[in-house]
Amino acid sequence: MARVLIVEDNAANLALMGYLVTALGHTVEGCRDGRSGLEAARRQPPDLVLCDIQLPVMSGHELAQALRADPAFRELPMVAVTALAMRGDRENALAAGFNGYLSKPIEPRTFGSQVESFLPPALRKGLPNQG
Ligand code: MN
Repeated sequence: MARVLIVEDNAANLALMGYLVTALGHTVEGCRDGRSGLEAARRQPPDLVLCDIQLPVMSGHELAQALRADPAFRELPMVAVTALAMRGDRENALAAGFNGYLSKPIEPRTFGSQVESFLPPALRKGLPNQG
């Protein structure tokens, strides 16, 4: 079981991601802006962060940079989840400190296995083949 921090300002997307990650057997904490996400991570360090890019107060890039600047979070897996699809967005997310990038709209059939691929193997719950 992993503790997964999800930072997403869109309530429907947050609910969907939270449902899908919880269904895997992981624990979810949701935040609606980047600053809240940063505070939540510092309060109770997660095993994985799923993060929107366009967020109120503090962007996903700013959140990723702030976490990576802290030695405690240097190895923390962080995944950008965003509808941004412009050329260069992936590179920008990686430059900000994200380990990877998942595109919206969220695909419920594959989202769980994509998320788990970013977790350390010991924390994966394993999924039935959803092919
Ligand atoms: Mn957003």
